[in-house]
Amino acid sequence: AAKKAGKNCWRFYEPVLLQETNEKMVLTNGLRRGLERGEFSLQYQPQFASSGEYLVGFEALLRWNSADHGFMPPNRFIPLAEQTGLIVPIGEWVLTEACRFARRLSDMGKEDIHVAVNISPRQLVSENFVDKVRSCIEYAGIKPGQIEIEITESVFIESVNDAVLKLCQLREIGVILSLDDFGTGYSSLTYLRSLPVGVLKIDKSFIDEIINDQAQLHVVGAIINLGHTLGLTIVAEGVETEKQLKILSEYRCDRIQGYIFSKPLTEEAAIELAQGM
Ligand code: C2E
Ligand code: MG
Ligand code: MG
Ligand code: MG
Repeated sequence: AAKKAGKNCWRFYEPVLLQETNEKMVLTNGLRRGLERGEFSLQYQPQFASSGEYLVGFEALLRWNSADHGFMPPNRFIPLAEQTGLIVPIGEWVLTEACRFARRLSDMGKEDIHVAVNISPRQLVSENFVDKVRSCIEYAGIKPGQIEIEITESVFIESVNDAVLKLCQLREIGVILSLDDFGTGYSSLTYLRSLPVGVLKIDKSFIDEIINDQAQLHVVGAIINLGHTLGLTIVAEGVETEKQLKILSEYRCDRIQGYIFSKPLTEEAAIELAQGM
């Protein structure tokens, strides 16, 4: 766009571009230092069976409380971490932490409560990723089935073959694979058959609309049914109201994650919740 804009526009836009680049650099350095200084933490959001009676798992969600920038939501720093490749070391830290948490659960006799970890495309295709997952699991002394790995459809946009190969290797280890944010990408229910995933997470944007939009409700119903036909476990994300919960259990959605049951919890609060189950 800058090329077409001509001489005058160049002069006009240049400072803006520089400023943007500078901000990114500052934030990137902040991320790097944040990792060294231990500014990252994980919160754990419970997933319940649709009845609400059983705690089936937790999703680990990254938090960054930066000394320089204050609290930063993941949607602001994860894309940058992904761009710069910093998501690889950060993601390794996340995986190690999540496995340590899973070990606390199994020590309590709660090894059937899984821990889900979000993995960025860049991370999945990074070198030795599968070996790193394996050694995190071994180091923590947990069963592979305690860990669920969440990927999004964007991993298949680039390097499909590498992504699928790595997912197959992860499945061989015994890790559970989950497709996150389903419905927002190039979702095709038919190609799901060829992917080694066992869990489908329906995106919050779909769940938001099932109350007011009859058509959307049918779409969600169809996703659940077809997902079940393919042998998948279905999770609804971002469930906030009783009405949504009621509809989703009628449609036999397997798991519910959302504020209706719980916001993401600190590790100690999550342990306490699991303890009481
Ligand atoms: P996600 O994996 O789809 O995670 C679900 C997001 O929805 C979380 O936001 C969660 O707090 C939020 N949420 C859950 N239930 C409700 C609800 O009932 N209402 C509302 N309004 N929100 C709900 P969060 O923690 O801000 O994370 C945003 C995204 O950042 C995640 O979306 C995921 O894509 C990414 N992310 C978080 N942690 C990590 C990580 O460790 N690694 C990577 N690569 N990405 C991460
Ligand atoms: Mg997720
Ligand atoms: Mg999601
Ligand atoms: Mg998301």
